[in-house]
Amino acid sequence: MQRFELKREIIEDIESEANFSISVCASCNRCTSGCPVVDEMDFTPAQIIRLIQLGDIQPALLSRTIWLCASCSTCTSRCPAGVDVARVMDILRERALRSGVRPALKEVALFNEVSVKSIERRGRLYEFGSMVAYKLKSGDIFSDIWMGIKMFLKGRMSLFPSSANFPSDLLKVEKDPLAKEKIAYFSGCSMHSIGKELNSTSLAVLEELGIEASEPEGWVCCGTTPAHSTSHLLATVLPAKNLALIERKGYDYLTVPCAACFFRMKAAGRDMKDDPGLKGRVDQKIGYSYGGGVEVDHLLTTLSKRVEKEEIISKVKKPLAGLKVACYYGCFLSRPAEVTGSEHPEYPTDMDQMMRLLGAETIDWSHKTECCGAALSMTKRDMVLKLSERILSEAKALGADAVITSCPLCHVNLDARQSQIKKKFGKKLDLPILYFTQLMALSFGLDEGSLGFKAHFVDPALPLKKRGLL
Ligand code: SF4
Ligand code: SF4
Ligand code: SF4
Repeated sequence: MQRFELKREIIEDIESEANFSISVCASCNRCTSGCPVVDEMDFTPAQIIRLIQLGDIQPALLSRTIWLCASCSTCTSRCPAGVDVARVMDILRERALRSGVRPALKEVALFNEVSVKSIERRGRLYEFGSMVAYKLKSGDIFSDIWMGIKMFLKGRMSLFPSSANFPSDLLKVEKDPLAKEKIAYFSGCSMHSIGKELNSTSLAVLEELGIEASEPEGWVCCGTTPAHSTSHLLATVLPAKNLALIERKGYDYLTVPCAACFFRMKAAGRDMKDDPGLKGRVDQKIGYSYGGGVEVDHLLTTLSKRVEKEEIISKVKKPLAGLKVACYYGCFLSRPAEVTGSEHPEYPTDMDQMMRLLGAETIDWSHKTECCGAALSMTKRDMVLKLSERILSEAKALGADAVITSCPLCHVNLDARQSQIKKKFGKKLDLPILYFTQLMALSFGLDEGSLGFKAHFVDPALPLKKRGLL
């Protein structure tokens, strides 16, 4: 009988890069049962881990699975043995690229490549430029063309790029003399393009609540999925640059309205803390040693933990009485708890509580943290439509008037894709998608023109007018 030789060195090599044990996996399959895209994979997440345990990673590198993975971290969050399966997918993608393996889904790898180039060139993601480059190189010219045109017409995409101008020497960055009275604010690229209106509403709400938020000049893109799918170092360097800049400006607290950026900031902070080798390489790249002194929260957490409930209630001029909302947290805000610090990574309640303070009714549903697939929106459209349809149909079936989000990426995905969902599934959802600060601004009685409803694909005005809120 032929004996199978375990290649220990391969497991050890991946474990040392991952900084956690993979050998402890007991093939319980909990990662697989929670994976939203497992039906389309050739190997399940648990099988990928098993291949590594056997030291046979070539099939994993050649698999569709590593490119289909939507980085939702459900697997990581549910693993009883502490295997960060989502991080393993990143490691394998990076290794596949390094070793010249032809990606099984070349469109996903291409999209990541053009996005990373755009970020490296300007320090910010130039959405229009990356989209054009991706379409020309992939030959997938016409899909989403109408959606793209509408984005322009609604002012959600700019023809022109913006550049970061990150300081060349962080040690020369001057402190903000009023830093102690303010908090730092990192909007990120999406909040300056597809989520522009959500950004201005968020800033208006902060101002109304007397919180002075300052966005440090020169910030760079967090790198988002294309960066962490390409290089762990790059995916850590980009958020680290922002954290270092904020630290140099003298701030000790950062709030982030984009859940994807929030997650990258938290993950980079955790990874630098846990891995001194990585920290050293990052320090070298940015010419500065980040001291770890900036506490990072998502804007929802900031408003829930820094503002008294009574104060929020006292600001409510127009209670959202009769409005039934489904709070959708998405993947990045709460999962995994080791990164986000969430007490209830699969069933968060902060946004529900906030909506109830405003007078709205919240529905209890099981899709709060289901992945909508936004990270693969450009490249695996059919899969994303399927994931989004499930979420929206559930909210609609439970009688929600609107879905409330905490991330501009989920927001645009769930809003802009409803006409495609109608075409594909024959379902007319017409479910408005609102970012949580838009409802805060509305109930606080802030200028209706500043709510940014005109930029939406599904007009939120109808259910709001029906309840006498507009
Ligand atoms: S959930 Fe964890 S222990 Fe279970 S199969 Fe997946 S990686 Fe292995
Ligand atoms: S991160 Fe999400 S999509 Fe990727 S393997 Fe895990 S559960 Fe599946
Ligand atoms: S996830 Fe955040 S910083 Fe990043 S591309 Fe989007 S917005 Fe940029």
